[in-house]
Amino acid sequence: MRNPILETPAHLKTEPSAVALHPKQDLWDTVLGSLDDVAARLRLDPGIHAILREPERELTVAVPVGMDDGSIKVFKGYRVQHSSVRGPCKGGIRYHPNVNLNEVKGLAAMMTWKCAVVDIPFGGAKGGIEVDPTGMSQGELARMTRRFTSMILPILGGKRDIPAPDVNTNAQVMAWIVDTANMIEGVYMPEIATGKPLALGGSLGRREATGRGVAIVTGELLKREARALSDTTVAVQGFGNVGSWAARILHEMGCKIVALSDVSGGVYNPNGLDLAAIDKAVAQHPRHLLEGYAESDVERINNEELLEAPVDVLIPAALEHQIRADNADRIRARYIVEGANGPTTREADEILEDKGIILVPDILANAGGVAASYLEWVQNLQNFYWEEGEVNQRLMSIMKRSFAGVWDFSHAQPVPMRLGAMMLAVSKVAETAQQRGIWP
Ligand code: NAD
Repeated sequence: MRNPILETPAHLKTEPSAVALHPKQDLWDTVLGSLDDVAARLRLDPGIHAILREPERELTVAVPVGMDDGSIKVFKGYRVQHSSVRGPCKGGIRYHPNVNLNEVKGLAAMMTWKCAVVDIPFGGAKGGIEVDPTGMSQGELARMTRRFTSMILPILGGKRDIPAPDVNTNAQVMAWIVDTANMIEGVYMPEIATGKPLALGGSLGRREATGRGVAIVTGELLKREARALSDTTVAVQGFGNVGSWAARILHEMGCKIVALSDVSGGVYNPNGLDLAAIDKAVAQHPRHLLEGYAESDVERINNEELLEAPVDVLIPAALEHQIRADNADRIRARYIVEGANGPTTREADEILEDKGIILVPDILANAGGVAASYLEWVQNLQNFYWEEGEVNQRLMSIMKRSFAGVWDFSHAQPVPMRLGAMMLAVSKVAETAQQRGIWP
C-alpha cells in the first residue's frame, strides 16, 4: 500500500510567501456580489437570501506556539461555517500569510455552493491560519496545528464540521488534526477530517482527486466542443496538489501540457513539456519548486506570461484573483477551467465573456476534492474501505453528472457556466432551507 505522506511533496516546506494577490480585491465581496446577482435572477425569497448572505458561525482564535528557539509566537486562526442547511459543514484549512476573516468567509460560502452543485450532502466551511509556514520546522507546524485544532474543536465533528487540506496543508496536517481530536475526546473518529493519510483512514484516490476532477471536466468540455484531446494545448498556473495532478492526468489523457508555473515562475515549451522530467526536478529541488528545471528547449516565463500564453486551455490552480480587469484582455486561451478557488474577479469575468472565452467555474471544476472527501467520509462512517478503482469510478460519475447538469442548464437559459452553476447551487440550498423552515 502506498504511503501518501512519503509520496506527497512537502508543500509545507516549499512555498515562499511572495504571492501575487490583488490587495484591493476582497473575496467576500466577490462572493456576495455573485450571490446577489443570482438571488435577483432566481427571484429568491428575501428572507432566504438574507440567511445566505451571512455565515452561520465565525470563530477567530489566537494560537500561541512555542517555537524551536524558545520564543512564543501567536498566530490568528479562523474557522467559518457558512451553511449547514444541506449537511455537516465541509471545507479546507489553509496556512498562508494572506489568510484573513473575509477570505475565509468567502471560501466557506463557495464550499456551500460547491457541495450543492455536485449534490453531496454537506454544507460549507473554511478555516485557516494567518502564517507563513515556509521555514517552520515539522515540530512547530505540528504544535501550531494541534493547538489550533484544540481551539476550534468545540465546533468540529464528523456530523458538524469536517476540515480537509487546502493551500500549504496536506495529509500530515490532517493526521495531526485527527489525532488531536481523538486524544481530547477519547474516541476513535477518523471522520472528523478528510484528506488523511491512508494509515489513518484516508481514501485511496483522495490526494489526486481535485486535479483528477479538473481533468475530467476539461475532458467533458472538450468533448462537447468536438475537440480532440490530442490537439489540445494546456497551461497550468500552480504546480501544487491541484495543478500538478491536473497536469499529470490531462497529459495521460493525451493533452499537450505546454506551460506550468509555481511561485518561483514558469516553464514553457510549445511542443509539450516533459512532465516526468519536471516531476523529477521538482522532487530534487530543496523547496520543491519548478525553478530547479532547465532544458534547452524550455523557455522560462513569469506568471503573467503563463496566464497570457497562446494555449487552448488555461487552468489557474494557484490562488484567488489571478485573472483581473488589468490582465483579462490579454488572455489568449479559448477555455478556462478554474482549478483554484476564486482565481477570476467579477470584472475579469465580464471581459472574458465578451471575448467569447468559455469558463468552467471553480465550484464545479475543483469539486473533485470535496467529492472524494465525501467518499472518504462515507468509508470512515461505514468502516469499510473501497479499492482505488471504485473511488475513481464514483468520482468520475459525480463529476460527469455535475458537469452535464451545469452545461445543459447554462445552455438552456442561456447563461455563462459560472452563473448557471451558481443558480443551480443557490436554488438547491434555498429549497432545503425553505423546507426546513426557521427553528424554533
Ligand atoms: P498547494 O499549496 O498544494 O499549491 C499551490 C501552488 O500554487 C504551489 O505550486 C505554489 O507555488 C503556487 N503558487 C502560489 N502563489 C503563486 C503565484 N503567485 N503564482 C503562481 N503560482 C503560485 O495548494 P493546492 O491545494 O493545490 O490549492 C490550490 C488552489 O486550489 C487553491 O485555490 C485551493 O483553495 C484550491 N483547491 C484545493 C483543493 C485541494 O483538494 N487541495 C480542492 C479545491 C480547491
